[in-house]
Amino acid sequence: MVDLQSQYYKIKSDVDNAILNVLNTAAFINGPEVKSFQSELETYLDVKHVIPCANGTDALQIALMALNLQEGDEVITADFTFAATVEVIHLLKLKAVLVDVDYDTFTMDSEKLKAAITSKTKAVIPVHLFGQCSNMEEILKIAKEHHLAVIEDNAQAIGSEFTFSDGTVKKSGTMGIMGTTSFFPSKNLGCYGDGGAIFTNDDELAHKLRGIVNHGMYERYYHDEVGVNSRLDSIQATVLRKKLTLLDNYNEARKKAADYYDEAFAGNENILTPKRAENSTHVFHQYTLRILNGKRNELQQFLAEREVPAMIYYPVALRKQKAYFQESNDADFVNTDQLLEQVISLPMHTELEEEQLKYITDAVLEFMK
Ligand SMILES: *Cc1c(COP(=O)(O)O)cnc(C)c1O
Repeated sequence: MVDLQSQYYKIKSDVDNAILNVLNTAAFINGPEVKSFQSELETYLDVKHVIPCANGTDALQIALMALNLQEGDEVITADFTFAATVEVIHLLKLKAVLVDVDYDTFTMDSEKLKAAITSKTKAVIPVHLFGQCSNMEEILKIAKEHHLAVIEDNAQAIGSEFTFSDGTVKKSGTMGIMGTTSFFPSKNLGCYGDGGAIFTNDDELAHKLRGIVNHGMYERYYHDEVGVNSRLDSIQATVLRKKLTLLDNYNEARKKAADYYDEAFAGNENILTPKRAENSTHVFHQYTLRILNGKRNELQQFLAEREVPAMIYYPVALRKQKAYFQESNDADFVNTDQLLEQVISLPMHTELEEEQLKYITDAVLEFMK
């Protein structure tokens, strides 16, 4: 699905030297590399504050902690996504309210968001799934009307841009009161271990977040609130500094692979290629097809026999997961339930050669002919 080794070999000498430099200076935690990465990412995103932390799940948890919510307050997120969002909502004893996604973009359906708001709703976490932004114009409008905090889960879409109807363009993760991301190795901006970050333009929140990631300390050994220990280390930061300079190229390479796939599958009546939203660019964290003839699982098997990896992101709705099970009316989740049966993600990374793309698309088309 990914080829991190080939990508590493292309930047090996730079990255090796940078890591050796960290080893030689022995500033492993909170060293200058972390500070530099933080400020370079602030510049890239055009956001006032980046607060690095240990991983993308922590980033979501810390962002929610900064909102001072009360037990039982409701947080709305999507039913069709990775479990991290709903996991942290549960950990903090908040109530997760799951809503359906849009069939074409895989992101939160804003009409369903509107319908799910109650007097207890305090926050909404749209997930920019597979590489493009949720409909932030609508979501921000609804959130403003109902005084909801918006935390964007940007773990899969870093580098994508949303264009508002007035022409304003913003980077994903910088539109809500906070945005979060993950630097897990396979993410579009991935390090060589775990890492994450929270973004905000709000000075007060930034201050609070910097305390929460560091045991609730604003002054050393004075703990003003319950925090966590969540740090990005210097070795990861130095890798990320190098890879940030290449992020736009990496995203371009993903898009080129997606264009190849799109073209190859155009015209096959049982394959729906990913729709590109009009108001968002797409950075293709995943390239996800919808298979309409009911043979998605057989296709995955057929590809496996030809050594083409293909994954089902995601096979189970969050509302039906054992840990997060909730009574629900399936009629409210028609798109999610359809996608669970139809989606299949093909190999997507920065190192796909035309020969590989041809092999993959030929195999898919052989099965789907
Ligand atoms: C990867 C991911 C996360 C979690 O990031 P980790 O760094 O693995 O904790 C959260 N949300 C989404 C949508 C993700 O894809």
